[in-house]
Amino acid sequence: MPEETKNKTVIRNALLISEENSREADVLISGDRIAGIYPPGKAPVSPAPGTRIIEASGLWLMPGVIDDHVHFREPGLTHKADIASESAAAAAGGVTSFMEMPNTVPQTVTIGEWERKNSLARERSVINYSFYLGATDSNIDELRKANPDLVPAFKLFLGASTGNMLVSNNETLEAIFRLGKIPVACHCEDEKIIKANSAAYREEYGETISPSFHPLIRSREACLTSSTAAVTMARRTGARLHLLHLSTAEETKLLTQGGDPSSKQIIGEVCVHHLWFDDRAYAEKGNLVKWNPPIRKSSDREALVRAVREGLIDIIATDHAPHTLEEKSAPYFSAPSGGPTVQHSLVMMLELCHRGELTPELVVRKMCHNPAILFGIPDRGFIREGYKADLVLVDPAAPWTVSRKNILYKCGWSPLEGTTFRNSVVTTFANGIPVFEDGHLTGRRAPEMLRFKR
Ligand SMILES: [Zn+2]
Repeated sequence: MPEETKNKTVIRNALLISEENSREADVLISGDRIAGIYPPGKAPVSPAPGTRIIEASGLWLMPGVIDDHVHFREPGLTHKADIASESAAAAAGGVTSFMEMPNTVPQTVTIGEWERKNSLARERSVINYSFYLGATDSNIDELRKANPDLVPAFKLFLGASTGNMLVSNNETLEAIFRLGKIPVACHCEDEKIIKANSAAYREEYGETISPSFHPLIRSREACLTSSTAAVTMARRTGARLHLLHLSTAEETKLLTQGGDPSSKQIIGEVCVHHLWFDDRAYAEKGNLVKWNPPIRKSSDREALVRAVREGLIDIIATDHAPHTLEEKSAPYFSAPSGGPTVQHSLVMMLELCHRGELTPELVVRKMCHNPAILFGIPDRGFIREGYKADLVLVDPAAPWTVSRKNILYKCGWSPLEGTTFRNSVVTTFANGIPVFEDGHLTGRRAPEMLRFKR
């Protein structure tokens, strides 16, 4: 497109939060890219008609969030959620790219199913998309065919009860870790320990057991045993390992501190609910806060926040995993685990900044920069000239309360209902297009498939 006919937008006088160097600036968007960054008030406003000017003084401008861990339930589970509904909710939360997990129906364990999901997203997603390929005991030939430029990672459930997508054979596991190039992302909870705990608690308390036993059944030992085995396997094989949704203080000791995250072999991910809730929430919210792995003691939550601050944990994601309220209202043992968070992840983490636990620069590093660095996503995750205009404007002083009226998830509920956040997402740009503006979805879509350079 010739330069002069591209859509242009100037975001003026925003506090730009990117690369530890927060400062007031103007940002010029031209077409789908960031065309320039200027001192405040200095962006050239072209006389051509159609240049939009957004006055953003008092607002924060951040790179759009890259959420490397979501479950959007399509195909096969679309009574819970779908790509259109959840990508719209994500856009409203300041998320501009997602990587989606393979436990849909059918499972994404063949290249054919993976391609099908990509074409669904091309037609339906509001924002940038990417899909994991799931590993099983029997699909290594499919994994070998995966394109490392397009598959973010192989997803392995090490001993999780998520259908039968479970790698239990040690030789297969080692072969998958040795595939090279494409990283492995592991859900680590030891199935044997969980089965024994479940049987013991069922025996003692029956089916009507309180959800507050969840962290004892899916115990910290179950997590640590499995995470330790995954780390040992990665060290032996040289694989790049992402440890998903860490939940215990002990597991942070498996990680190394600081330095350039791209030089790390073991990457730690934490999810927003583990940084927000602790086990006191079970009394009020029951199965609505039942996650795998569970939310645990306040000392675990504090240790995870500390690990984010100290650079042991490099990525903050959601594990957005919606279920219907009806499904969640079943008794403990039959209620599914997981909850919807992708619309609220950024404001949750910015709220932790208001409380003095994190800083906006740290939030941007763990939710935007590091996912781009660690998955090798070119041209995204930073506010830099020439990069894609994936951007989010946040008002740090516009309180609002989560309620059924403003929840955009298809399931219609949130574990955060009644929570007041001091900051709100004002506008989200994906590839230069405002997909969410002044607090409303615009109905526009800008989905591009994520690419990985490794
Ligand atoms: Zn997950």
